[in-house]
Parts: sequence; C-alpha cells; structure tokens
Amino acid sequence: MARTFDGYDAPRLTGAPRPGMCTDCGVSRLADGRACGRACQFIQPDYPSLERAVHGRETAPEQADEAFFGVTQAMHRARLVPAASGAQWTGLTTELAAELLRAGAVDAVLATAPDPADRWKPLPVIVTDPEDMARCRGMRMGYGPLLALLEPARAAGHRRIAVIGIPCQVYALRALEAELGFDEITVVGTPCSDNTTTENFHDFLALLDDHPETISYLEFRADYRVELRFDDGRKPRLIPFLSLPISDLPSDFFPMTCKTCVDYTNRLADITVGYMGGDGDQWLIVRNRRGQRLLERLGARVQLRPLTDKGKREAAVKGFVTNTRLAAGGLPLRRMPDWVRPIVSFLQPRTGPRGLEFARARVEMKAVETILHLRRAHPARIKNMVPAHVWRVAARYGLVPEPGEQRD
Ligand SMILES: Cc1cc2nc3c(=O)[nH]c(=O)nc-3n(C[C@H](O)[C@H](O)[C@H](O)COP(=O)(O)OP(=O)(O)OC[C@H]3O[C@@H](n4cnc5c(N)ncnc54)[C@H](O)[C@@H]3O)c2cc1C
Ligand code: SF4
Ligand code: SF4
Repeated sequence: MARTFDGYDAPRLTGAPRPGMCTDCGVSRLADGRACGRACQFIQPDYPSLERAVHGRETAPEQADEAFFGVTQAMHRARLVPAASGAQWTGLTTELAAELLRAGAVDAVLATAPDPADRWKPLPVIVTDPEDMARCRGMRMGYGPLLALLEPARAAGHRRIAVIGIPCQVYALRALEAELGFDEITVVGTPCSDNTTTENFHDFLALLDDHPETISYLEFRADYRVELRFDDGRKPRLIPFLSLPISDLPSDFFPMTCKTCVDYTNRLADITVGYMGGDGDQWLIVRNRRGQRLLERLGARVQLRPLTDKGKREAAVKGFVTNTRLAAGGLPLRRMPDWVRPIVSFLQPRTGPRGLEFARARVEMKAVETILHLRRAHPARIKNMVPAHVWRVAARYGLVPEPGEQRD
C-alpha cells in the first residue's frame, strides 16, 4: 500500500534484512527471495563483469588513479552555485536528479529522505516532482532499504529511473539491473564509509554534545574536523578528528559490514559525488558517457576546477595499519595523551595529505581495514568477498593474499 508523506511516495515496506552480514539494501524485501545470493556485495562480488556492463570496460589499474577510484572518464573539484540550502555539501547530488526529472529524462528518482519521526533515520522514497528533491538533501546515518522501492516503482509504470545510492546499494542494483525490466537506470552514487545503525549514531551524538537533539548536521570534513550544526541558534562547532570520543564507543559501534566494505568510491555509479578528494569543495568522478551527459545538464550552475594533490599519505596510512592491527586483534588502542591532541590537531590540516592524496589515503585505509577485520572475524569469506581492487591498494602496506585467500 502506497503511503504518501508530505507529497512523497514512500511505500510501506514489508520484509526484513537478512541475518548476518547485511546492510538492508532492500533486495531481501523483493519478491524473489533468492535475489541476495546474486546481488550481495558481501557474498561474491564481481566488479570486473559489472564494470564492463555499466562502463564498457574494467578498471585500468595502471592508469593514474583508477587503481584507487575505479573507472574514471574525468574527475573534478566542483560546487553547485549557489549552494543548495540543507544540502550535505553544495547539493550537487540532489540537483543532478532534480534536473533529470525537470528534463523528463527519467520518470522517477529513488532516493533517501529523512524519516519524519527521526531526521537521522533514512526513509527510502520515490520522487517524481523535481521540487521534492530538495527535501532529500543532507545525510542520514543508518540503513534504508532503498532497493525495495524497485518493485513499487515498476508497478507504478516508471520505465526510466534514477537511483541515488551508497556503494552497497549500487552494487546490488547493478547486479540485478538486467533482470529488473526498466528501460534505463541512471545512478548517482556517493562514496560511503563508517556507516552504522541510526540507534548507534544517536549514542555518538550524545557523546559530542549536551543537547544532541539539536544537532541538525554532521560531516567528517577533508580538513580533519567534524562539523556540527545546530537548530537552536548556536554557532556551528568544529571538532578535530583527534578530539572525537572514538575510544569511548563500544567495539561493535561500526557493524562488521561497514568495517569490511569493499567499495568506498561507488565504482558502479555513472557519476560519483563526494567530497574527500575535493579539498573543501565537492569531488566528482564521471565514470561514463551517461555520467558526463548528466553533469552537462547543470550547465553553468556547476563550477568545475582542477583537483588539488598535496602532501604524502604513507606515514598516516602506516599509522592507521598499526592501529587497525591492534584493534582487529582485540588489543586496546594506545590513547594519545590529552595534551598532545590539540597540537597534532593543529598540525594535521597543515601537513597531512590534501585533495586527491587525502582520497587515496582514505581508500587505502578502507582496504586495509577490510582485510584485517575479515581475517580476524570471517576468514572463510575473504576468498570470495575481497575483490582484486582491494588487494591492489593494500599491497603497498604488505597486505597480500595468503594461500586460499584469493579466487583462482
Ligand atoms: C553514511 C554515509 C557516509 C559517507 N561517507 C563519505 C565519505 O567518507 N567520503 C565522501 O566523500 N562522501 C561520503 N558520503 C557522501 C557525502 O556525505 C555527501 O552525501 C556527498 O558528498 C553529496 O553531497 P551533496 O551536497 O551533493 O548531497 P545532497 O544534495 O545533500 O544529497 C545527499 C543524498 O544522499 C542520499 N543519502 C543521505 N543519507 C543516506 C543514507 N543513509 N543512505 C543512502 N543514501 C543517503 C540522499 O538520497 C540524498 O539525495 C557519505 C554519505 C553517507 C550517507
Ligand atoms: S543483497 Fe542487500 S538485503 Fe541482501 S544480504 Fe546483501 S545487503 Fe542484505
Ligand atoms: S560503509 Fe559500505 S557497507 Fe557500510 S553502508 Fe556504506 S557502502 Fe554500505
């Protein structure tokens, strides 16, 4: 039964996530109860085949940054001008989708709005009015079964759709695309990392501020600070990463899925819209012709600049590898004395990697984390779950497949 909330089509979803490694992308709620086996990023992903189907070719690891970021036609530092209010960054993601609706190039967009009962909880919605994309702006923390909307969207007669999704949702979408029966699916992807349940996220907010219910915005910025905005009239707060109460979080704060995710940059999107390579602006990875045509629709409203690439990442990533080995082995992390934190926090934005080098560092850290956590918690999964692109970037830090850890 379709439920309309504030003009959105937000069908009431039935079904449940799968037990175990599952981010409730929505596939387990589709009529075909066996679809997860073919679609899941956490079972046996096949990136090369899907890259060929979506982009016309596989990642070329010998080409500059493709080893880190996947198939790339062009990369930009970008901003929407003027920036859209309520957006996570400047609102490029929602504006790209709104433009597709305005031009009649798609019938509907599947996106994630805030749940009316909890602004941090993802609510998957089907949007058909371009103006309604504005209400999807911003980031929610948690898992929303976005792909469960594929069936209601098809039943409503939508033939050409756009989907805004995070990598584990987009992998499953692409794996099933050929059997879904749509004429065309355009994917605007965002990078994703360190997601957790909405409940856990509320606990984190409570550690950051005495009035967590007034926090309206949170972002891990590329200048090594977390930005908090409030809706009670207070000024925004910037908290250096190193001052975050991370060691006060329970060890299962981040679910095993997100500790071992194999795609940071949304390699199967037509265009990836993030920030971590953007050095304070947004970061676009145009992956194929469809992504390029989509970007061109924004015309002069998107301001493009060359990316920056500063600093050296090795030391930061090596330190991360050491800490992750300890954490994955269950040992307590050595805490930096409190008086050192402000000094390191001051130095990090000035000396640490910036722009593309920051993005490379984050991709390497994610790959290392995936391998080390799987080795400890789910060694039998490594062979089928870890794609070649993850091994390639981890190799620089001595992490190479052990016998039985790689598919033939
Ligand atoms: C959990 C999470 C972690 C992220 N981590 C990174 C990162 O490490 N590095 C990086 O560069 N970017 C990351 N992003 C993406 C980043 O936060 C911005 O969404 C992106 O830069 C786009 O900004 P924008 O202003 O163009 O988006 P907007 O125009 O504000 O649109 C944001 C879109 O994100 C979608 N969305 C919001 N919450 C969710 C959710 N929980 N699940 C699925 N879709 C959602 C909505 O459909 C919305 O349309 C992350 C996003 C999420 C949801
Ligand atoms: S395909 Fe989606 S719903 Fe199915 S197990 Fe994987 S994450 Fe969960
Ligand atoms: S970190 Fe990976 S597994 Fe977790 S929600 Fe994001 S894309 Fe999905």
